[in-house]
Amino acid sequence: MENRWINEEYAAIGAELIETEPELAYIRDSAAKIVYLSSDSRKKGKGTVINAQCEKIQDKYKWGLPCDFTITVFEPNVEMFTPEQLRILIFHELLHVGITVNEDGTEVYTTKPHDLEDFKLIIDRFGTEWDRVK
Ligand SMILES: [Zn+2]
Repeated sequence: MENRWINEEYAAIGAELIETEPELAYIRDSAAKIVYLSSDSRKKGKGTVINAQCEKIQDKYKWGLPCDFTITVFEPNVEMFTPEQLRILIFHELLHVGITVNEDGTEVYTTKPHDLEDFKLIIDRFGTEWDRVK
């Protein structure tokens, strides 16, 4: 069974990134609330290790988790990460937060798929091996 818990340390990193990174200004300018979680799961995808995940909270769960998105870090997969790698990981996950604004000003939330743009941004700034453990 997987356990998840709120991680205030990641919340502080996320808040700082949203405040300072131009690519994340659209989050700062919105009402979207993000909760940062740790998981004890060793999550895997198809042939890859998943270090973290950005999810949109369904309305039916908002009574329990009053936020719009969660970013979950799968702790067993990032045990050897440096603080800088964790920062990049959270930055990467924040790029998955999708916000569009309707004509009447209401915000619509989605998760943005892994697009080439977001990938390119990370690679350009941090190199292809940013998640390699040294
Ligand atoms: Zn991604």
